[in-house]
Amino acid sequence: MDNLTPMMKQYVTIKENYQDTILFFRLGDFYEMFFDDALIASKELEIALTHRDAGGNEKAPMCGVPHHVADVYISKLVKKGYKVAICEQLEDPAIAKGLVERDVVRVITPGTIIDTNVLDEKSNNYLVSIYLDETGAGLSYVDSSTGEMYTTESLREESELYNFVLDELGKIFPSEIICNSKFIENKRILKTIKNRINPYINIYDTEAVNRNNWENLIMDHFNVDNLEVLDLEGKMYSILSTGKLIDYLYETQKDSLKHINGIEFYNTDEYMVLDINTRINLEIHETIMTREKKGALIWLLDKTSTAMGGRLLKSWLEQPLINIKEIEKRQNMVQLFVNDIILMDQVKNCLKNIYDLERLIGKISYGNCNARDLFSLKISIGMIPKLKKLLLESNKKEFIRLGMEIDPLKDVYQLLDSSIVDNPPISVKEGGLIKLGFDKTLDELKKASIEGKQWLTKLEMEEKKKTGIKNLKIGFNKKSGYFFEVTNSNINLVPNYFIRRQTLTNSERYYTDKLKEIETKILGAEDRIVEIEYNIFQEIRDKVKMQTNRIQRVSKLISKIDVLNSFAQVAYRNNYVKPRLNNKGIINIIEGRHPVVETTLVDGTFVPNDTYIDNKDNRIQIITGPNMAGKSTYMRQVAIITLMAQIGSFIPAKEADICIVDRIFTRIGASDNLSQGESTFMVEMNEVANIIENATEDSLIILDEVGRGTSTYDGLSIAWSVIEHIAENIRSKTLFATHYHELIELEDNIKGVKNLTILVEEKGDEVIFLRKIVKGSTNKSYGIQVAKLAGIDKRIINRANEILFQIEENHKSSNSNIPLDNNQQLNFLDYKKDYFIDKINSLDISKITPIEAINILYELTEEAKKLKERA
Ligand code: ATP
Repeated sequence: MDNLTPMMKQYVTIKENYQDTILFFRLGDFYEMFFDDALIASKELEIALTHRDAGGNEKAPMCGVPHHVADVYISKLVKKGYKVAICEQLEDPAIAKGLVERDVVRVITPGTIIDTNVLDEKSNNYLVSIYLDETGAGLSYVDSSTGEMYTTESLREESELYNFVLDELGKIFPSEIICNSKFIENKRILKTIKNRINPYINIYDTEAVNRNNWENLIMDHFNVDNLEVLDLEGKMYSILSTGKLIDYLYETQKDSLKHINGIEFYNTDEYMVLDINTRINLEIHETIMTREKKGALIWLLDKTSTAMGGRLLKSWLEQPLINIKEIEKRQNMVQLFVNDIILMDQVKNCLKNIYDLERLIGKISYGNCNARDLFSLKISIGMIPKLKKLLLESNKKEFIRLGMEIDPLKDVYQLLDSSIVDNPPISVKEGGLIKLGFDKTLDELKKASIEGKQWLTKLEMEEKKKTGIKNLKIGFNKKSGYFFEVTNSNINLVPNYFIRRQTLTNSERYYTDKLKEIETKILGAEDRIVEIEYNIFQEIRDKVKMQTNRIQRVSKLISKIDVLNSFAQVAYRNNYVKPRLNNKGIINIIEGRHPVVETTLVDGTFVPNDTYIDNKDNRIQIITGPNMAGKSTYMRQVAIITLMAQIGSFIPAKEADICIVDRIFTRIGASDNLSQGESTFMVEMNEVANIIENATEDSLIILDEVGRGTSTYDGLSIAWSVIEHIAENIRSKTLFATHYHELIELEDNIKGVKNLTILVEEKGDEVIFLRKIVKGSTNKSYGIQVAKLAGIDKRIINRANEILFQIEENHKSSNSNIPLDNNQQLNFLDYKKDYFIDKINSLDISKITPIEAINILYELTEEAKKLKERA
């Protein structure tokens, strides 16, 4: 260190406090990175790695990026999971005495990035803070780009606390987490978080937490003198997680947190809980196969016109309601739009012109907006009176009430409209931002500048006349200012008062006293114009910033209208109905459809199915049916319809009664999770364990082929006992699809269990899927037929039939009482027929002895007897 140059010493001292970041060190027009940071950044950003003399004999690895394009590089690094600390020059290098003072002004992290070029416009970018100990857990989260902050807490047994946090994380899907060291002790949870969510994780020491500090910090930040106003009084765990969150924000953002001006406390039991598996299995946000939005529920439901509406819809999908009144409020608004599709379209068209108000105000608050952002804000605000008018004139009292709540922000609009030019440039430091008529001094300077240019034209004409140089021209460049340009052929005409400035190959450049005088006026005016415009821009930005609360409030209303409008469009286009809601535990769906499958079917139309589940005799449905019949589709359809109903959306059915469920659980398919180092069966059993632990009488459970991942009898036994347990102890509504046909016996043994099957029609050895769910059961799986349909080689199919036969034989000789299905009987007879024919055909009568013949005949008669018994 002693040998380092003063600047490198400064670098090392600053870097000391930002070990976990890549430090962007401002040097003139560049941000430079040194040592390890340079090695990482040059690789990640694919920029040249050089060296700089660090003092002594040390050469520091170095790389750099120009400051005006730094955003792109910063975003790239943050997207790759790094934190970037921006270290600025705090004084003007031109006037600084000695080493320029520098310090970190902001740390950009995956959870605090606000660059709208990087963020997905219809997703929030959350930073979560977790505090967990033996008796409770607090969880708080913020989207720095929009200013929303939420918190919740839970007091339960430690083992349950982890699931509580995990369920919330599955919902929030943060890009960054701050958690205490105690939380991270649970390696299973940590592994799941890393594999499923993969956020940047910051860990802090549990011991270092000081509750009083956090309380004061929270009150200071929100500018309140007690925690009650924030609904945080006595909520120790929420205080601990929120305090750390705010502390981290100040640590990284330094200040500029004006737009984070409220915090909402919520209880998780105010919403339906969906665990991380269910969110994945129901393909809410992305499909399982392709991990794309296309084909997921949100892809179908999201017809929002604004970015903030898109984000709100996503959060509604993440937290379905359980309060019927609240759901009905949403439904009623959707109905109003569906009943008046002209209004529905007019509102949509109006919303289309509204930009992302939340993120615009976020940028304004951070002070990194440009005049274009203010112009976008103006355009957006300009649409609000139209929206308000549409609602007020709708003749519908709910809409009128909404319309009355909308603040048209006329003053903000007027301010922006009178000041910012249309389509301003990106840069705020080169002028061209402010309208004429907004500021007197600016106008005068602009006038002077325009006049100056007129003087130039006049002077050019005069000098042309005086000197007789016909092609005399006044030119300009930044370095030399204004000049007369005279081509070499006319140099002899140049008068004495022309002073030479520059010699070029084909011409000479001159100035005169008069030209200099005009130049001073013009350039002086232009410099001042740029400066004044920038100052005015900042003033306007600050004035708008003062209105953050109002703009955020309007933005919230607009998002809500947008989501309800989107629900209405989807309902109208797809023929959905408003479900009736109950708390009596009854799900009665008439002609329900799977919303996504019905839109993606290429061959044929979707076959609707009825569903009836209650909490008495019809609690558990065991669904048997051939492969490919539609069992999974049916079960997901019931779960998705219930979910849609609880977010306030209409549903794909002819009519329906839906009861409020507290949780939906799913265990679907044999989804491998090898990346987590767990086998298919282990994953399956983990999921089942979670369901058994957390389901209640008000939950809806979807189990698809539980027990498939192990040997037949193990699997069957597990499936059997799981259903028994749910039926007798938990009493949740459960749909259970299975190929273990033995399970149909449960209908006779346990109250509440009912068998369902999906009809198929047999034509020869072909199967036609009718997709119709009916009461009853089947003992056919048609597995080999489906394999044949799928195009598996005929030889393999024949061999499968042969093996099936052998299995049947063994099965019989072991006296198992598990019945064979009819399908298997058929295969067995076919196989036997072939056996007799082959056996007889293989005989060469001329070569066998009478004894041999008698033995063969005996064998055949024995086989025939067995066959007869079996038939
Ligand atoms: P397996 O037992 O092999 O898992 P499954 O019985 O669960 O099969 P699904 O995966 O639900 O069958 O359905 C197979 C396909 O049948 C679906 O991808 C869909 O294309 C079609 N399908 C399912 N239900 C319907 C329906 N009600 N109407 C029309 N097509 C349907």
